[in-house]
Amino acid sequence: MTISIEKHPCFNDESRHTFGRIHLPVAPKCNIQCNYCNRKFDCLNENRPGVTSKVLTPHQALLYLDKAVKLSPNISVVGIAGPGDPFANPEETMETLRLVRKNYPDMLLCVATNGLNVLDYIDELKELQVSHVTLTINAIDPQIGAEIYAWVRHRKKMYRDTRAAEMLLHNQLEALKKLKASGITAKINAIIIPGINDRHIVDVARATAEMGADIFNCLPYYNTRETVFENIPEPHPELVTSIQRKTSQYLPQMKHCARCRADAVGIIGQDNSDALMKQLQEAATMPRKPDEHRPYVAVTSMEGVLINQHLGEADRFLIYSMPENSDRPVFVESREAPPAGGGSMRWEAVASQLSDCRALLVNGVGPSPEKVLKTSGIDVYTLDGVIEEGVSGIYTGKDMSQMSRISQMHACKTSCSGTGGGCG
Ligand code: SF4
Ligand code: SF4
Repeated sequence: MTISIEKHPCFNDESRHTFGRIHLPVAPKCNIQCNYCNRKFDCLNENRPGVTSKVLTPHQALLYLDKAVKLSPNISVVGIAGPGDPFANPEETMETLRLVRKNYPDMLLCVATNGLNVLDYIDELKELQVSHVTLTINAIDPQIGAEIYAWVRHRKKMYRDTRAAEMLLHNQLEALKKLKASGITAKINAIIIPGINDRHIVDVARATAEMGADIFNCLPYYNTRETVFENIPEPHPELVTSIQRKTSQYLPQMKHCARCRADAVGIIGQDNSDALMKQLQEAATMPRKPDEHRPYVAVTSMEGVLINQHLGEADRFLIYSMPENSDRPVFVESREAPPAGGGSMRWEAVASQLSDCRALLVNGVGPSPEKVLKTSGIDVYTLDGVIEEGVSGIYTGKDMSQMSRISQMHACKTSCSGTGGGCG
């Protein structure tokens, strides 16, 4: 196996016009709330905001990668950078990395994270020869961190204020130590937020340099509406340059980062090609495992017009298909649901009854049935609206965010509920 570090277009200035990168958008959830982030948009740590990405399952991502390398053979790096945080979605992230490594032994692998939950995965990242990890560290002083993060959710516990910032910082620094002990290149991103941490970025560079970080990336904060920081102006380019100059005494600087979107593909700085975006869209409409034959979509409904029934209350499933060359789904049949009771056995029975369905559209679902169904290859969507519209959204990949129930918006890939309750 030959993995050539020098082919990484982000870390090697000379490669950036020759080699491309692809971000696989497999990580929708986040485990912290940055006060500059509105998750209607992609993660600011690595992505240009304002663009909503498709989210893929690991197997869909591999299918998309297969198509993308055919269309763009100069791709040398596969990265995972959102649209949430890769390690708020560790199963999806690690499975994707395993699949890519198995199928592309020469590919460079790269992840970008807020660092809260990466520590436990570093041993396997090393085994998989993930060569580059980016940690976004905006503050080395928890008092300043407390102004930047609204909450942090770790191991099912919520933290706020200084305690949240301490927890995040502790985990980030432990991760940095272990990354370096594992021989992985560590890039530090720091977002310059005027009046909050602009005088502090140099401390971040100094502290992370002492711990062995390899390269530093000062990113100007991007003003995003509907956030706590929406009234803070973006930093002046002169301020950014002066911070880069000061931090360069501690660490080499990355200056050509394009803050790519979570589904960026191709040469840095160039727009995603339409042909590649079409492949992404198509991959997102496939079953969770694209090689499984799952022609149908199941729906729970009280009267057969609206998606208006909780999974637990369903006594039957309405089954739909989409004929070839049509854009209107057709009703196929009704299947009696397993009787209530029986705990997880009931959900396993549902999974087996719907084993030819790629998705189940419901008006509500608990975490335990959702997990059983997803593990069995059935995507579960919590929606409010007309059946035909929802089913056709599954087959065509059309944006269904208008139909998404608020409480489920993370899972359905579009937005943060803003409740502070996290989404994991
Ligand atoms: S780490 Fe999470 S909250 Fe922060 S910018 Fe990324 S997605 Fe948003
Ligand atoms: S966001 Fe920056 S580091 Fe990540 S792929 Fe784009 S240019 Fe490279």
